[in-house]
Amino acid sequence: MITKSIKISNQIALDKFYRKLFFYKRFFYKKVIFKVDTNYKEIKPIITALNIKNRRQRITYIYDEACAQIDNHYQNKNICGFKNNMCYVQQKLKNGTTNGCCRFCKYQSNKGCTTKNLTCKLFTCSEVEKRCQIIQFEDLKILKILSLRDRIILKSDYFSKREDVINDLYIASLLIWCIKIIIRMINTFYTLKKAK
Ligand code: SF4
Ligand code: SF4
Repeated sequence: MITKSIKISNQIALDKFYRKLFFYKRFFYKKVIFKVDTNYKEIKPIITALNIKNRRQRITYIYDEACAQIDNHYQNKNICGFKNNMCYVQQKLKNGTTNGCCRFCKYQSNKGCTTKNLTCKLFTCSEVEKRCQIIQFEDLKILKILSLRDRIILKSDYFSKREDVINDLYIASLLIWCIKIIIRMINTFYTLKKAK
């Protein structure tokens, strides 16, 4: 393995690093271990991910780290204003539904989500947006390591469990992903219908 040292001490160096990330994440850096000297906290997990050379392990790390960053941003905040299992919108509408946006998902529970879905974690409606500072896909710099195709998948992989999303990213085929999403939706529909 070859070691590559990177120093990031100002915004110019940071911007340069993000431009070079396009190359650093490629296979020709497979034999390179990155070392960084920086005070920018967002860089450390990116370097950790770049130093994971196994593709599945790298995707898993990026996924879990991005989820942790979202959880950290919303720590101890009830952003959807849940009261008696009803979110802001459901309290307003008074239509008897519960569990907010998760009500159509088989991974819902009265204690929240039973899995870890990054796409869902990033979703917010206008009721939430007018009440709190939200975190967006672009704020999660670590996701820059993923391919464009993986980022498209990740932006739309709602109602799926963590392991399935990671598999979708690993397979990295938009066609297979579309087929899997349709199968999952049919499966969810029948599971919910049976539960009623
Ligand atoms: S995002 Fe909006 S609609 Fe969805 S659960 Fe939160 S408050 Fe309710
Ligand atoms: S996977 Fe998404 S929709 Fe389903 S329970 Fe979890 S957060 Fe809700």
